[in-house]
Amino acid sequence: MLRFKNLGSGSTGNATVVEARDGGRPNRLLIDCGLGPRTLATRLGLAGLDMADIDAIFVTHEHSDHIGSACKIALRHRIPLWMSHGTHQAIGAPDLGDLLHIARDGDAVDLGALQFRPFTVPHDAREPLQLRLSDGAACLGVLTDLGHATPHVLAQLAGCRAMLLECNHDPELLAASAYPYFLKRRVGGTHGHLANPLAAGIATALAAQGLQQIVAAHLSRQNNRPDLALAALAGAAGCGGLALGVADPVTGTDWIQV
Ligand SMILES: [Zn+2]
Ligand SMILES: [Zn+2]
Repeated sequence: MLRFKNLGSGSTGNATVVEARDGGRPNRLLIDCGLGPRTLATRLGLAGLDMADIDAIFVTHEHSDHIGSACKIALRHRIPLWMSHGTHQAIGAPDLGDLLHIARDGDAVDLGALQFRPFTVPHDAREPLQLRLSDGAACLGVLTDLGHATPHVLAQLAGCRAMLLECNHDPELLAASAYPYFLKRRVGGTHGHLANPLAAGIATALAAQGLQQIVAAHLSRQNNRPDLALAALAGAAGCGGLALGVADPVTGTDWIQV
């Protein structure tokens, strides 16, 4: 059984718990740690968990809304911490001792009942990775913080039944926003963040390969709205039968079964 719960999404801090169980004790991965230790503990508590229930932390890249307090929490609770070599370098190569595990594109990791496989995405970070996760039966894709979908990204996510998918901005809202020009270019660029129509294109490609549900994530508060993101996904070709939801910036989502 595979399920996930987002604990917060967007520039104010990202964290998602993914849980798999095969009869015995469940295994859990915390993806990103962009919340302070106290906030993270509170939100884990609302999910019925505490830090002792987390087997490992995976940080997708060094931006503060993702790395957050990951190193501090890993050291304090002795939790293995996965990140790319580039991410580790980008945060100043802190000494994490034997807790540090270097993640690489395409290298699958076995965490008991839960397996995850990182893959490279185009984003303005040193070596950003996103994830495909599985309990051996169903697959979940986690895909935020990328400017566009490469063929590699789509190939890594083929066959996923559920996705946490970035719907960062509506292009018209971004163009009309008060953001300075350089920031509009950064966010809307090929190594920035995923616009609603590009997320819809990914949904169309993956719906043809078994995708059944999408949770829209990492929405910009200034340049997007939940109704716009949902309309883009619902209106995408071949996506009429998909179950859709939105991760709230603060409350995230309920537990969602994959
Ligand atoms: Zn981010
Ligand atoms: Zn980022």
